[in-house]
Amino acid sequence: MMKILYCTSEASPLFKLGGLGDVAGSLPKAIAQLGVDIRIALPYFSTVDPKKFQIPDKPAERFSFLFDGQREIIEIFETKLPDSSVPVYLFGNPTYLSIYVSSKEYGATVHIISRFVFFSEAVANWIKKHKGESDAKWMPNIVHLNDWHTSLLSTLVDTKTLLTIHNLSYQGVSKKNGQTTNLLKLGIENATMIATVSPTYAREILTKEHGEHLEDILIQRKKDLVGILNGIDTDYWSPKKDRFLNLQLATPNLQQEVKKWKKRNKYTLQKSIGLPPLPDVPLLAFIGRVEPKQKGIDILLHALEDILPKLPAQIIILGTGEAIWEDKLHKLVHQFAAKKKIVFIDRFDEPLAHQIYAGADFVLIPSKFEPCGLVQMIAMRYGSIPVVRATGGLKDTVDDGQTGIVFPDYSAKSLATALYRSVTTYYDSFLFNKLIVTCMRQDFSWGRSAKEYLKLYNNVLKRIY
Ligand code: ADP
Repeated sequence: MMKILYCTSEASPLFKLGGLGDVAGSLPKAIAQLGVDIRIALPYFSTVDPKKFQIPDKPAERFSFLFDGQREIIEIFETKLPDSSVPVYLFGNPTYLSIYVSSKEYGATVHIISRFVFFSEAVANWIKKHKGESDAKWMPNIVHLNDWHTSLLSTLVDTKTLLTIHNLSYQGVSKKNGQTTNLLKLGIENATMIATVSPTYAREILTKEHGEHLEDILIQRKKDLVGILNGIDTDYWSPKKDRFLNLQLATPNLQQEVKKWKKRNKYTLQKSIGLPPLPDVPLLAFIGRVEPKQKGIDILLHALEDILPKLPAQIIILGTGEAIWEDKLHKLVHQFAAKKKIVFIDRFDEPLAHQIYAGADFVLIPSKFEPCGLVQMIAMRYGSIPVVRATGGLKDTVDDGQTGIVFPDYSAKSLATALYRSVTTYYDSFLFNKLIVTCMRQDFSWGRSAKEYLKLYNNVLKRIY
């Protein structure tokens, strides 16, 4: 039987900072449904709620190992990923693994890096311990690593490893005593095989433009590199079941009811965030990290400055990120305060995100690069039209004119043109309704990707190294 240990820094709903949390909270469920014994290893941060997730007070296992010259205790608590039989092993340690990693710290500081070096060593020691024990303890035959956080494990275990790169731009780089360590690079060099989260991104990362200085070693590993598109948890992101909405989509007759459902959700959203509840003005939303390096907040800001005075549109931005960009957004809101056209909510708010997906007409994803992107898939599922830049997974999931609006260049001008197009599309009700229905009919469930991962696991097992 195939046994996979899925190592991750976040797994929704236990602990989530972004897309990786969504993936780690849903892909293992879909893989388990294919008959694979997959289990998750996750740090036990203090923000993981033991009551909510039925985590026992007492650890299932306890051991210690030497780290940085100190003997450190690891306690492993077991639970299940909610609504599934996928086991989750939570690794607890008061020094390194208790402090919450906030979204503002999404990038890596030395401080954060040491936590994940520690976590990787803890997992490696746990596997070694099980190997040495006489009673047949659970042993993985593949350790599945995710991003820089767990990349180091590829050098620490003698089990085969698969590394999924969710985002090449975060690499876990630290400098100590004049020596630079790049954790993601170690993973790329040492993992048995490498996956990334969309076919386009798998090609893009071999180029100088998107390779983040690792393109040369990625090219060397090209034959071991595959792109598998992420899915979304369609039970969780479900207009029919979403518990964060006042009104779920109740009827099987999509075409007839969707319009009414969107309208009601839009009204509720406008009221709750303080925008005038106008039914006939397009509502455009952005949900994501507020930073220009990836998510395009710079071109968004400039495009909004351009269109807001001219176009009938309402804008809602939900996100946290870099302080200077948050300030700039607050200033923009202030500038248009009298017109009540734009709202910026600078917090991480899961329920509100759901309400925005349901109530918005368009969701904007103007990324400079986007490995896969989940926001556009979630938006489509809720009948919000994605407006995306042609890059990475956005290119693989949004079909211009059929399931969204795609713009070519990373520039405020190109985005502004797409925003004009969005507004005109909105007022062409035949086209607009057709777009909504086509979006909602797309299948982004994990089934297909899980099958591709299963094939990949089989290839990993066949690899000789
Ligand atoms: P990332 O690069 O941040 O991982 P993705 O598109 O892959 O981008 O996933 C982002 C996920 O995080 C989506 O589920 C999105 O709804 C969620 N998200 C981002 N920012 C916020 C926020 N401020 N509040 C609630 N959810 C958010």
